[in-house]
Amino acid sequence: MKINLKDILGSIGATLELEEDFSIEEISIQSRKILFPSPPRVKIQLTNTKDDILVQGSISGQIELACTRCLEFFRWSFVRELTETYAKKELNLAENSVLDISPEIYQHLILSIPMKSICEENCQGLCPGCGENLNRVQCNCAQEAIDPRWEKLRQYLEK
Ligand SMILES: [Zn+2]
Ligand SMILES: [Zn+2]
Repeated sequence: MKINLKDILGSIGATLELEEDFSIEEISIQSRKILFPSPPRVKIQLTNTKDDILVQGSISGQIELACTRCLEFFRWSFVRELTETYAKKELNLAENSVLDISPEIYQHLILSIPMKSICEENCQGLCPGCGENLNRVQCNCAQEAIDPRWEKLRQYLEK
């Protein structure tokens, strides 16, 4: 995401507001493939301070993930605040007034990915017996299994 700073470079305190889609379809990290069903939205304000270009704002969007319990895909919405500072002396502004904030946006997107991907807190997952998705189907496996924690109580009650 490249931003031309020429309008704010002339005066200290000048600001520039921007709202743009960040073009990305997927990120692969470790063995996970993270999909973006639509481009994340970047909303920022750039300020020309004495020594730096200050970028403040947010990035929001949706990530498509597979639930680790039931394997169904679901969408995770995120909003992330961002503040980045770019030192003017490192930007070489005399030659080029364009600032590329893509690497930082990319980092923020990676940090938006939840560690655990579970479609809902009470997702029932797949039945270990028959493989059915227990959020949708109630199978008979569970009723046949005996929970060992209750077995002692049952023996006691039968005495
Ligand atoms: Zn699930
Ligand atoms: Zn089952």
